[in-house]
Amino acid sequence: MSDIEEHRKKIEEITLEMIKLLKTRTDIAKQIGDAKASLGMTVTDEEREDALRTQVTKLCKEIDLDQSTALKFLNLLLNESVKVQSDNKQTHISVFLKAKALEEQGKKIIHLEVGEPDFKPPKEVKTALAEVYDKGYGKYGPAKGITELRKELIPHNEYMLRSSYSASIENIMICPGARFAVYLAINTLLNPGDEIIVIEPAWPAYKDCALNAGIKVRTIKTTLETKWEPSIDQINNAINENTKMIVLNYPNNPTGKILPRKLLDGIIQTAKKHDLYILSDEIYDYYYTDSDLRAPNIWTEYGYEKTIVTGSFSKSYAMTGYRIGWVTAEPSIIEKMSKLQALSLTNVSEPIQYVALKAMTSTTTGSSYVGDNADLVRSRLDVLVKTAKDIDLEFIEPDGAMYLFAKTKYKDFDATKFSEKLLEHGVAIAPGEGFGDYKEFFRITAIDETKLKEGMTILDTMLKESYE
Ligand code: PMP
Repeated sequence: MSDIEEHRKKIEEITLEMIKLLKTRTDIAKQIGDAKASLGMTVTDEEREDALRTQVTKLCKEIDLDQSTALKFLNLLLNESVKVQSDNKQTHISVFLKAKALEEQGKKIIHLEVGEPDFKPPKEVKTALAEVYDKGYGKYGPAKGITELRKELIPHNEYMLRSSYSASIENIMICPGARFAVYLAINTLLNPGDEIIVIEPAWPAYKDCALNAGIKVRTIKTTLETKWEPSIDQINNAINENTKMIVLNYPNNPTGKILPRKLLDGIIQTAKKHDLYILSDEIYDYYYTDSDLRAPNIWTEYGYEKTIVTGSFSKSYAMTGYRIGWVTAEPSIIEKMSKLQALSLTNVSEPIQYVALKAMTSTTTGSSYVGDNADLVRSRLDVLVKTAKDIDLEFIEPDGAMYLFAKTKYKDFDATKFSEKLLEHGVAIAPGEGFGDYKEFFRITAIDETKLKEGMTILDTMLKESYE
């Protein structure tokens, strides 16, 4: 046998052996997962992971192997363990699907779990839907979206007027919702084995998209006690040579937190220092309770070229089911993202892009749909806060968004079990475990006042019945 044949044979043997070891490793991970579930423990244990990371680094030095490659490989293994252990997590989506199934059986459900406005989009949408056919919108189109809509979405603000930082349509791409924009950003800008930082509690898709793409998630846990604020130290401690992106979401889903400006400045500086992408999901930007608190548009105000900002028509125009949003970033980033968008869906539905364009005129022609919508959500949030105080829930008052993230005064309260029980009594809430390591918390959406109060009364009765 020639030398090359011999080496090939060896490589085959080693690879097959590695696959067998992977099987053994995955089986053990599953057993650990079952044990953790029965003990009520969370899946990811960052301390254990760090300890293993240290051992791998040490071994790399001993055997003279490139550390970065080895750590990426370790990240893939850690991700596989997380995947096999995460099967049974309850999220707002899983509760929503159960609630829908109950409705199909004729049961009446009050939906406090879903994150969508329960009112209609602007009336301009109705007219536009009727116009689409005659105007001929309905062909294949550019992957980045129709020019008219991209133009309309160019962010304008003082930062750009003061500086040479200008935006053009090359900075904008239309996507079928902010969710897909998040998916595209994570999948096109990061590689398997890279790391992403997510500050929890967080909307679950950041973590799930990363996990799906073989990217390691480093979570920063914030607490009610520290007002849901991460510290710069926590962020610095999570950064290593494989860290490539940090996700921001302010106002936050589920807590409604808007970070104080100074802290945000610190986070942006840290990201710049380590050359990280910042994925800033700003879909709730119009929903703030106090204009002094309003979160800045990270892309325009900080002028950092590795920023990706996502926006959506889902909330401010109440168009969740239309599936339309957008992303703002440097043209080179937009270019990468548009390639995957073209590959996976050709283009966003043209009729819907036209409708979105017309929806925007509802805010630019005197009336202010977005402003009125934000006022309504704000007033509902006030009712929710007041009702939650009346029934003694514990929480930080939201600065924005459309949710309340709360726990109860009862010891050993398990929000997942409670949400299952509550659903049997006709009220759906989102269990905290869907947003990170928050089994004792749940999220309530600020919906129409009458239904909200009815739901909260049932919630209060069930709490007392179960825990007193
Ligand atoms: N980001 C956050 C923080 C969200 O809460 C949601 C939806 N609930 C989305 C993105 C997705 O929005 P879209 O409907 O535009 O995909």
